[in-house]
Amino acid sequence: MALRRPMVAGNWKMNGSRQLAEELVKKFGRLKDDSAEVVICPPTVYLESASKLLEQSKQSLDGRLVRLGAQNVSHHEFGAYTGEVSASMLREFGCNYVIVGHSERRRMYGETSDIVANKFATAQKMGLTPILCVGESLAAREARRTFEVIAGELDAVIEKVGTMAFDNAIIAYEPLWAVGTGKSATPEQAQEVHAFIRQRLSEVSPFIGEKIRILYGGSVKPSNAADLFSQPDVDGGLIGGVSLNASEFLALCSIAMNAE
Ligand code: PEP
Repeated sequence: MALRRPMVAGNWKMNGSRQLAEELVKKFGRLKDDSAEVVICPPTVYLESASKLLEQSKQSLDGRLVRLGAQNVSHHEFGAYTGEVSASMLREFGCNYVIVGHSERRRMYGETSDIVANKFATAQKMGLTPILCVGESLAAREARRTFEVIAGELDAVIEKVGTMAFDNAIIAYEPLWAVGTGKSATPEQAQEVHAFIRQRLSEVSPFIGEKIRILYGGSVKPSNAADLFSQPDVDGGLIGGVSLNASEFLALCSIAMNAE
């Protein structure tokens, strides 16, 4: 992991209130150590106030220590798409990152790999860095189809944008059976899939394969983070539930900062 700067990204999902969002942003904005990159992804309606609060709490001359991400983006650039939010709007409100292809969106909102690939491309075109989520279901794992599923989700994006586009992207491996279940993948299971993803990108570009940050997501908590984050191909985490608890999320950040 030393080759790549670790990242911890918090996905708040549809949780909280204005007050909670402000309390969390204020606490996270106080981070001083920048040896790991910290990103928070609040619900869209809180992005503007989060952006302002992070700006106020910035502690270094070269900008914010904590960056902002969105949880979703339209795959269209603009137009008659009621209820959607565009990548350029997210940029305007201070986002650097956007999560695309989260399993909850694939599963509950019918986002196909094709739509996810288009979201990835539109986000990049408008200056956002996509955090692409991939992951297999329990049934796929039990049928020994994990690599096939991961390769399919990855290849759909590679076919659309090419491997070199991953120069400006993050990948999150999130097995569906671990997201929000309290049952994390073991460090060995995570490492095996992360190595597979890195290898697949390296086949086309060793440079991208070496450089790409691959986060693990799925029931990460302070008690299991050190073992997960110290795996050679695990570059930090995408955190759901625990990102709503300031002290536990900050504990994960410091574990990532100290992971070797
Ligand atoms: C997620 O939603 O991306 C996630 C990893 O959730 P949790 O940490 O709660 O499993």
